[in-house]
Amino acid sequence: MLTSIPAVAVLSPWRTLAAKVLDGSDVSKTEALAILNSSDEELLDLVNAAFEIRKRNFGKTVQLYFLMNAKSGLCPEDCHYCSQSKISDAPIPKYNILSRDKLLEGAKLAAQRQSKTYCIVISGRAPNEREIQAIEKIVPEIKQTYGLNICACLGLLNESQAQRLAAAGVDKVNHNLNTSQEYYPEICTTHTFEDRIETLKNVRKAGLALCSGGIIGMGESRQDIVEMAFSLKELSVESIPLNFLHAIDGTPMQQKEYLSARDCIRALAMFRFVNPASELRIAGGRERHLRSLQPLGLMIANSIFIGDYLTTQGQAPSEDYRMIEDLGFEITGQAALPNSSESTCSESTCSESTCSQTTCTQTGGTGSSGNQCQTPSSSDPTRSSCCG
Ligand code: SF4
Repeated sequence: MLTSIPAVAVLSPWRTLAAKVLDGSDVSKTEALAILNSSDEELLDLVNAAFEIRKRNFGKTVQLYFLMNAKSGLCPEDCHYCSQSKISDAPIPKYNILSRDKLLEGAKLAAQRQSKTYCIVISGRAPNEREIQAIEKIVPEIKQTYGLNICACLGLLNESQAQRLAAAGVDKVNHNLNTSQEYYPEICTTHTFEDRIETLKNVRKAGLALCSGGIIGMGESRQDIVEMAFSLKELSVESIPLNFLHAIDGTPMQQKEYLSARDCIRALAMFRFVNPASELRIAGGRERHLRSLQPLGLMIANSIFIGDYLTTQGQAPSEDYRMIEDLGFEITGQAALPNSSESTCSESTCSESTCSQTTCTQTGGTGSSGNQCQTPSSSDPTRSSCCG
C-alpha cells in the first residue's frame, strides 16, 4: 500500500543560492567558482536552480539570432582562437564587406528563420570609413523591410563611430571580452582587454545596448571564467553570448579542446547566476561541445543562434525548432516578413538540403524534390570564430 511521501523542506544548495538571487542578492565570486567546481552528481540540481532564475526573467521564451559574416579574413590582429587572424593558416575565404544585395538577402533569411536579431559582423581591428558608411546605409533599409533588430559587430569603436551607428538605427553592438583581464595577453597581443572595455563604454555612451560575452576552453582557469562573468556584470551587459572553443586547424589553439558537455552546462549556469537578468545565448561550439545536453543548456540560457555560426557550421534549423518545441518553449520577438505569402516554402517535405524554393524556411521534413536548396548560407563551414 502506498504511503504518502513526506515533504522535504530542505532545498539543495543550488536552489538556496537561486532563491538568494531571486530575492535580489548578488552571488559572490566564491559562490560562482563553486558552481564551476560542482560535481556531476549535482548537475541536475544546478540546472533546476538556474532554470528558476531563467523562468523569472525570461519565462519559457527563446530568442533567435542570425549571424551574417559581412567581411571575412584580412585581419591584422593576432587573436589566437580566430582563423581570420594574421597568424592563422586556416584556409578561409577572404572578402571585403558584402554588397547591399547580399546583406539584404541575409536579412530576409534571418526573418524567415524567425530571428529577432540580425547580427552583421565584419572581421578586422576596427571599421574603416567605407565600412561604417555601408552599415549606415543598409541598416535603415533592413529595419524598414524586415523589422529586425540589428546588432553590429565591427571591432573596436570610438565614440563618434558608436554615435553614428546609433543614429543609423543599430540597436546593439557586440564586442566580446572573451576572457578575463589577466588571461587576455595569452589570447591576443595586438590589442588589450582595456581596449575592449573602452569600446563597450563608447557604445554605452551612444545609448546602444551591449552584447558581450566570451569563449570558454582556451586554457583559462575557472577563476578567469568567473572574472569575465563579473566584468560583464559590472558593465550591465544586456546580452551575453557564451562560446565554447571550436579549435580550428591552422590557429595557435588548434590542439585546445578539452571541455566536457557538463563543463559547458556548469559555465552556463554560473553566468545565469551572476547575470540573472541578462539574455544568455549559447553561441559557437553549442553542437560540438554540448551535444545531447543542448536542451539542458537551453533550460539555463534563453537564446541561441539559428543556423550556421560566423565561421563554423551549426545544426539544421529544423533540429533547433524541434528542440524548442520539445522543451515546451516558444520563440519570441521574431520579425514579421513584409509579404507573408512569400515567407514560407509550400513544400511540406522541405528540408535544408533538398528544397527548391528560394523562400525556404528549412523547418520541414525529409525532402523529396531532389533539388538543391537555393537559400544563402550565412557562413562558410571551414572558418573559425570572429571578432565578436
Ligand atoms: S577576432 Fe576579430 S580582431 Fe581578432 S583576429 Fe579575428 S577578426 Fe581579427
